[in-house]
Amino acid sequence: MSDDDFMSDEDFNDESLEETDSEFEDETYDDDRYLKYDKPQRKSYEVEFRVYSDSQIQKAQAEQIEEVSNILGLPSEQCAVLMRHFKWQKERLIEQYLNSQEEVLGAAGLDTNAARTLKIEKVKGFMCDICCNDENGLETFALRCDHRYCVECYTVYLEQKIKEEGESGRIQCPCEGCSTLVDSKAIKLLAPKSVSDRYQVLLNRTYVDDKDNLRWCPAPNCEYAVDCAIGPKQLTTIVPTVVCSCGHHFCFGCGLNDHQPCPCALVKKWIKKCEDDSETANWISANTKECPKCLATIEKNGGCNHMTCRKCKHEFCWVCMGPWSEHGTSWYNCNRFEEKAGVDARDHQAKSRASLERYLHYYNRYANHEQSAKLDKDLYLKTEKKMTLLQSQSGMSWIEVQYLDSASKVLQQCRQTLKWTYAFAFYLERNNLTHIFEDNQKDLEMAVETLSELFERPVEQLASLKVEMMDKTAYVNNRRIILLDDTAKGLLEDKWNFTVDLN
Ligand SMILES: [Zn+2]
Ligand SMILES: [Zn+2]
Ligand SMILES: [Zn+2]
Ligand SMILES: [Zn+2]
Ligand SMILES: [Zn+2]
Ligand SMILES: [Zn+2]
Repeated sequence: MSDDDFMSDEDFNDESLEETDSEFEDETYDDDRYLKYDKPQRKSYEVEFRVYSDSQIQKAQAEQIEEVSNILGLPSEQCAVLMRHFKWQKERLIEQYLNSQEEVLGAAGLDTNAARTLKIEKVKGFMCDICCNDENGLETFALRCDHRYCVECYTVYLEQKIKEEGESGRIQCPCEGCSTLVDSKAIKLLAPKSVSDRYQVLLNRTYVDDKDNLRWCPAPNCEYAVDCAIGPKQLTTIVPTVVCSCGHHFCFGCGLNDHQPCPCALVKKWIKKCEDDSETANWISANTKECPKCLATIEKNGGCNHMTCRKCKHEFCWVCMGPWSEHGTSWYNCNRFEEKAGVDARDHQAKSRASLERYLHYYNRYANHEQSAKLDKDLYLKTEKKMTLLQSQSGMSWIEVQYLDSASKVLQQCRQTLKWTYAFAFYLERNNLTHIFEDNQKDLEMAVETLSELFERPVEQLASLKVEMMDKTAYVNNRRIILLDDTAKGLLEDKWNFTVDLN
């Protein structure tokens, strides 16, 4: 992938950390905030975003709490509770606190008896209400509400809440009906390190969940969060793909894998439709078909859809089974669905047959690119193994064979894009702009198949194909940029008419 394709995480890494944290506090998104990270030529389908690590998120919280603590003159563990209660809207908290201190503290589960410091104490004549232990010298603890329990019971309670129930910011006093909140200081006093570490992780999680401009990377075991200012209302005009530092490309709007150029609302509808219609569609993912000319069985073992029959040498398209020679010409359309003229609108059966045919056209192409992406990847993994061999045979260094790696990545990404162009096209109403879209789709598709074809060549040939492959990779990537740019501009300018409502 070319590095100007997305705002990569390298663009905003550690050297900007210090600015990061102060920027991070801002509730509003003035343009200044993003200007200094703005790349000179950001494309219309790209959005500004930043990636944060766990510790950066923690630091950002601590700094905001500290600031409020200085302003309100309250201990930081109480300010933390208040900030969470106010979903990190600092100004609102300060304003309301100054208006009515008691009300704000009460509503957040704190009480006004703030002066007493929390500590572990031994209390004469005490009996724990949970375990009924009344030994002399028993260590006890109580929050400001004065509901006192033995330290052992308290610790078990916290462990249960944090480790088993996954609670953090809303843990209440163990006394039934008491809404006083356990704060971080109490956790520090009572919980073993593994529990307080977990508590911190969970708090971070709620922090990210509470803020609209933050979202966890959905990749398994990834601990980065992404900051992006695109709100739910903007999702009809932009598809905000972000790239996490772990390498995962995902949509900031819905959290699904990158689905450009298709807006979130269409993706949701399309996935639902495919689930509902899975029986009708019954997509055959079989990897064998018959040659349309000699009927010999042909097996597909790579992602490329340009097939050549081993027996009669007939070249055809795996998707539409039409002759390959006509693909890419101006009159032949593998990607466009031609509405059949003369369907009687009163004939319900004919109408529903026509609409099923239309759906299957798009669905088969959508599913085929998904399938092809998998096959491309399998083939690449096999190739990678052989690459090591190639290196030693041809005397090429590791760096010199990286063109295969980048070609494979571009291929994966383009098939992903192509896949979603078919969902996009399914909901697209025909107008004079649809032709431009379909031409871009066709151009990208043809370019992808050519590159994909090179992958299926014998490994011995790959070294001599280096220049050609690098050229094709750049070309394919460029076709993708053109398609995404055109569709994104159309969305932004509200030029596309969809058959369904995006809201
Ligand atoms: Zn007890
Ligand atoms: Zn209580
Ligand atoms: Zn990630
Ligand atoms: Zn989305
Ligand atoms: Zn044949
Ligand atoms: Zn075709």
